[in-house]
Amino acid sequence: MNFDDYRGVWVFIEEKDGNVAQVSLELLGAAKLLADKRKTRVAGVLIGENVSRLAQTAFEYGADLVYVYDDPIYRFYRTETYMRALLACVEKHKPEILLYGATSTGKDLASAVATDLPTGLTADTTQLDVEEDTGLLLASRPAFGGNIMATILCKKYRPQMATVRPKVMKALTRNTDRKGELVEESIPIKEADIRTKVLEIVRTTTQRVRIDEADVIVAGGKGLGGPAGFQVIHQLAETLGAAVGASRDVVEAGWIGHHHQVGQTGVTVTPKIYFAIGISGAIQHLVGMQNASLIIAINKDAGAPIFQSSHYGIVGDALTIVPMLNEAFKTALGRKEEVNAGKV
Ligand SMILES: Cc1cc2nc3c(=O)[nH]c(=O)nc-3n(C[C@H](O)[C@H](O)[C@H](O)COP(=O)(O)OP(=O)(O)OC[C@H]3O[C@@H](n4cnc5c(N)ncnc54)[C@H](O)[C@@H]3O)c2cc1C
Repeated sequence: MNFDDYRGVWVFIEEKDGNVAQVSLELLGAAKLLADKRKTRVAGVLIGENVSRLAQTAFEYGADLVYVYDDPIYRFYRTETYMRALLACVEKHKPEILLYGATSTGKDLASAVATDLPTGLTADTTQLDVEEDTGLLLASRPAFGGNIMATILCKKYRPQMATVRPKVMKALTRNTDRKGELVEESIPIKEADIRTKVLEIVRTTTQRVRIDEADVIVAGGKGLGGPAGFQVIHQLAETLGAAVGASRDVVEAGWIGHHHQVGQTGVTVTPKIYFAIGISGAIQHLVGMQNASLIIAINKDAGAPIFQSSHYGIVGDALTIVPMLNEAFKTALGRKEEVNAGKV
């Protein structure tokens, strides 16, 4: 198989609230390591309305060039418009590797592109490497319920594509002096040809602090006994200004929504502090939180596996301990505020 025409490591640059999404910055960092091994360049693909200015951010985080599709038709993410633009870009410039963030947009777009291109897609990867001589992407992800890491290769087709979980790759340090090449691209596409219309954007406000962006997460599991017991998690999170996380069993029981689920089939998080309360520590949960800087577990079973992955552990009934902790934090934080306000 001759893939000489296929060069470069690409990243689909996702826009979020007018900025480049954090996961895209992380992927540019990962792409740079792969591209250096392959002695090739890092390119970004940016699609949207008024997004050209974001190319400079991509350069500062490692992109050598950015292909830009800037048109009002891309104002809102729609599978069809973004897929058409990206397919055209891939067919024209032929990347050897194409990475997407495993966000709802990235997953949707990657799978749509993969259905059209004669190539595969490795979903939800957590490690990337490349064989320097063959150029084969080594895309690894948890498999068989998280018990093993599977490394998936795409030997016969190009580009090699993968979605990558947010927060697992490291963004490069921003270099504001770094410049790159902006390549303006366009395809003939008319609104009348697009089957999907965006009528309204409804933002959900249920999640006070997003778990993938939180510095502190208070997560609860089945050990809280039910939705009433789970309230102690919300109360502690409220006091600490933390996000609320949950195990899958809790989500499946309907105590809280899926976007709070931490783990293999939920969100990967890397907060500074992670409280695992009434959570047993199944491998599928651990893969989503084990990179937290500080893990504090509360469980009534001293033999619970979560204690093996924790920095601090408290053995006892969470329904007694958590309210006590909450009161202690309230007192300590209240006192800090008084000190800051000069009252003490
Ligand atoms: C393919 C696959 C994907 C999965 N993906 C995920 C995922 O993304 N995230 C996830 O979390 N799970 C996932 N799971 C499920 C996972 O295997 C576990 O079943 C789940 O994490 C267990 O949730 P839990 O810890 O809340 O409940 P349990 O395992 O039932 O643990 C409850 C814990 O609470 C303790 N406890 C009980 N009462 C108290 C009390 N009063 N005070 C203190 N502690 C108490 C118990 O000792 C126990 O350790 C997945 C499973 C599969 C097969």
